[in-house]
Amino acid sequence: MRRSGGAAAGALALVLALWTGGSAHALPLPQDTLARVTSLTGNAYPELEALYQDLHRNPEVAFQETRTAEILARRMEALGFDVTRGVGGTGFVAILRNGAGPTVMVRTEMDGLPMEEKTGLPYASKATGVFQGKETPTAHACGHDIHMASWIGAAKVLTQLKDRWSGTLMFVAQPAEEGGHGAEAMLKDGIFKRFPKPDRGFALHVGPSPAGQVVLKDGQLAATAEFVNLTFKGRGAHGSRPDEAIDPIMIASAFVTNVQPVVSRQREPNTHGVISVGSFNAGSTTNIIPEEAVLQLTLRALNATEMERLKAGVRRTAEHVAAMNLAPPPVLTFRSGGPPLTNDRAVVAQVTPALRQAFGDAFRFIPAEVPATGGADDYTHFVEAGVPSAYIRIGGADPAVLAAARARGEPAPANHSPFFAPLPEPSIKTGVRVLSVAVLDALKVRKP
Ligand SMILES: [Zn+2]
Ligand SMILES: [Zn+2]
Repeated sequence: MRRSGGAAAGALALVLALWTGGSAHALPLPQDTLARVTSLTGNAYPELEALYQDLHRNPEVAFQETRTAEILARRMEALGFDVTRGVGGTGFVAILRNGAGPTVMVRTEMDGLPMEEKTGLPYASKATGVFQGKETPTAHACGHDIHMASWIGAAKVLTQLKDRWSGTLMFVAQPAEEGGHGAEAMLKDGIFKRFPKPDRGFALHVGPSPAGQVVLKDGQLAATAEFVNLTFKGRGAHGSRPDEAIDPIMIASAFVTNVQPVVSRQREPNTHGVISVGSFNAGSTTNIIPEEAVLQLTLRALNATEMERLKAGVRRTAEHVAAMNLAPPPVLTFRSGGPPLTNDRAVVAQVTPALRQAFGDAFRFIPAEVPATGGADDYTHFVEAGVPSAYIRIGGADPAVLAAARARGEPAPANHSPFFAPLPEPSIKTGVRVLSVAVLDALKVRKP
């Protein structure tokens, strides 16, 4: 009995091994390591939720993340990281050395947005801040608070699993992702000279796909962004005497509607291109025609050639609507958000099996041949500086909210909507596990 039972078990093991394409050792990570990641994530969750709610209630806009940075820095010190504050303004770097091996960077952004939250959640932000010289409501409407909680959670899990990896952790808390200055500020401050230059890097972003989903896009995954400031100069006068004025509000309004054909008529239809005016400021009251109108735009394209076409179209339209209305030439400044964010194919090839093992059907791989989407992230500057990376997207949406929006034929609230409300528990738990698994896989001790 015992013998034949053993033979049957052996045969079953062989069948299973053949079925899974090899022995159990071929799995990217030991199953019990993944189980430990999941249980440690569960243990850490209550304190991560409290941290998340605190950060969510108190968003700070670009380069003003002093409270946020201090809260995170203290937590990293408590976990045993060596923290250097004030890297690139409000940013900081946290290092943990644990034997020989590569250096792996994990980045979070810390900034909130200058907008009002309208989710109605009990922990919704009622905070305000000063942005571009004006008092404004602030909100974590891009989910950077989810990233911060996930980042702290991953740091904790990895310190608790120190016996299962070898190398150096470089956790980077970056200011000012929105607007695209923060990563550059850290680079200008010598982040990769003052600290080890990472052998690879990971970052994540929560979005409006179903909570718990993990998406990894090979190759280029985002657009290139361009930030534009545009000032139309006019001549101020009484509102009753438009003939004495050159009306910058009318000129700027003409620009807003006349610039869209650059996208709809001049762009090749099968390429991606966006021109959005996000800010339009002019005037103070009913009966004064003001002296100027100030606009801020974002442009998105998937490559430099298309971006040049959009920029030229914006300039041409602005100059012509001004000239048409006898106004002086407008003042335009362009600032590039860097090359399109591109995942390193070797890093993606390395981490994909581990993510697939950890997340099963919730993991979705998008091949390099599939065109990128129009988002952008200034993490691209770290890639440009030579950190081969995988930038991983996670879903945060409540499936019920998605279904209701679909039934109404409306888009579900996404990043930068005042109603964007990722579900904290599945989003943060997924974020912690994604970052932990990616790092464990990169720093696993390989047998010679
Ligand atoms: Zn954003
Ligand atoms: Zn964001």
